[in-house]
Amino acid sequence: MTIKDARSFAEFAHLGQTRKGVKAEPYRVHLEDVATLVAGFGGSEDAVMAAWLHDTVEDCDVSPAELVTRFGTKVAALVAELTDDKALPKARRKALQILSAPEKSPTAALVKICDKLSNVKAVGVSPPADWPIKRQSDYVNWAETVVAALPPVTPSATNAFAQQVAMSRAAIAQRAFG
Ligand code: ZN
Repeated sequence: MTIKDARSFAEFAHLGQTRKGVKAEPYRVHLEDVATLVAGFGGSEDAVMAAWLHDTVEDCDVSPAELVTRFGTKVAALVAELTDDKALPKARRKALQILSAPEKSPTAALVKICDKLSNVKAVGVSPPADWPIKRQSDYVNWAETVVAALPPVTPSATNAFAQQVAMSRAAIAQRAFG
């Protein structure tokens, strides 16, 4: 199985889903964003495959077993590291992301930082219409806390994330104060 296979599988699994932002982009835009970032920071083929697939179990009808069958145990294990337990309440899931961050494998940590970078960018550029300024700003703060708790990844990724946090905070401040 190749990166192309992971991409086609993920695009099909997320078909019809859109991002929460006012632009309501197709979900694959987020996946492509994360996969491109992971590849750009020198991620392995497994890492880029996991980037495409990272939300398929959480947000689609894809089972962990199906990922094992199609993409092998390594890629499936990475996706599992990046999947929240949707049975838990949202506040608990968000707290768990911080608590579990230090235990992530180096590869999962790289995908996670790129996922958070993409999400923080989206909140800066195209926040959900029903998110007040405070919620936008809280999201960026929470993402920054999750990333700070991850094991070290390549400094280029850490720096790019910090830059995006600064840009998104500036965009949010611009909306708040005009
Ligand atoms: Zn994601």
